[in-house]
Amino acid sequence: MSPKFRVFATCDIGESIEILRKRGYEVEVYSHPEAPPKKLILEKVKSGIDGLITTLRDQIDAEVFESGKGSLKVVAQIAVGFDNINRSDANRYRVPFTHTADVLTEATAEFAFFALGALARRLWSSEHLLRKHSWGYWHPYLPFLGDEVTGKTIAIIGTGRIGLAMIKKCSGFDMDILCYDPAYQNHDYIKGVQELMDLRHARGMSRDKCYIKYVAFEEALRDADFVSIHVPLLREGETSTPTYHLMNERTLRMMKPTAFLVNTSRGPVVDENAVAHALKEKWIAGAALDVYEKEPLPADSPLRDPEIEDRCRLYPHFASAARITRLSPDPNKGMAGRCVQGLIDVLESNYGGDVTKMPYVVNKEAFAK
Ligand code: NAD
Repeated sequence: MSPKFRVFATCDIGESIEILRKRGYEVEVYSHPEAPPKKLILEKVKSGIDGLITTLRDQIDAEVFESGKGSLKVVAQIAVGFDNINRSDANRYRVPFTHTADVLTEATAEFAFFALGALARRLWSSEHLLRKHSWGYWHPYLPFLGDEVTGKTIAIIGTGRIGLAMIKKCSGFDMDILCYDPAYQNHDYIKGVQELMDLRHARGMSRDKCYIKYVAFEEALRDADFVSIHVPLLREGETSTPTYHLMNERTLRMMKPTAFLVNTSRGPVVDENAVAHALKEKWIAGAALDVYEKEPLPADSPLRDPEIEDRCRLYPHFASAARITRLSPDPNKGMAGRCVQGLIDVLESNYGGDVTKMPYVVNKEAFAK
């Protein structure tokens, strides 16, 4: 019996693959931990697969779509960001691609918040002190102090899904919140958060009155103690508000010298040379980064400079890396489950075969009648 559909997955996404196999799909999984070479992806696509499961490590462009002409029906990405997929190429070849928005929102936001706290309260330096056997005394301020998070001001850059979830976490810490988003402003949500802030104050749960408001980018950078980035990577020509190198020498210099930068969005949103420079010259107090211009972070990256080690926290693109978030086969809980469901929706013509109605398809515009 011939398989219902043939699928190639560029990485192992766990037990969710079995959902496809149980439905009669023939699924080949690239089992190595690192990304497959592009050549191999082209070869698999050329062999006539119906669906391709990808991660943000795979460059999916015209070359891939051309190889799959007449056979490739869907690309299902296990991530919310899809800057590795050339949207206009996908549209030109009329191949829908899906992503796994929403199920990683809370996990990514809580990671951003923890990274912020670990940076400000110097958790890494203080544990290091103990492990190096250098903890010789208790002293009011030696060998160093951290900075409180509670009651401080945060700038949320990008108020989409993850930015709004981050706002929720920050408001629990009695922070004042400055929001910036040139394309999408959720005033209802902001109003609700303000009401909660007011209620907490009225009930004596927070000492000071807190506020939340939309402001201009410059004002957000200038007045914040923390700047947290939650934007997609958009390059020049893709939008009227590109985010490539949004944080650069000029914008980093707008921040307070006591302020901290947190980036869990995409690496190229931040100019890494500029961040290393800013930390070295102390234009800002610290940075916590989860994503990089080149991943994995190269050995000679200026971010690895031992001189800035105490104020530069570096994580391995880890913000969504929580067990249920990454691997649950339930499409309402896990990226793996949602990825597989997106693929099934397209291949099995769910929603009456209307791609524009499929919830996980990104490039619906290519299929609008
Ligand atoms: P989203 O699309 O819901 O929100 C992004 C927001 O950024 C939108 O509201 C958009 O209007 C806004 N925006 C666009 N251009 C902007 C600009 N120039 N300045 C300010 N705001 C701008 O996306 P999301 O689900 O919140 O995810 C955001 C990004 O986070 C993803 O695109 C992905 O790259 C990244 N991400 C990283 C990890 C990780 O593991 N580190 C995990 C999940 C998501």
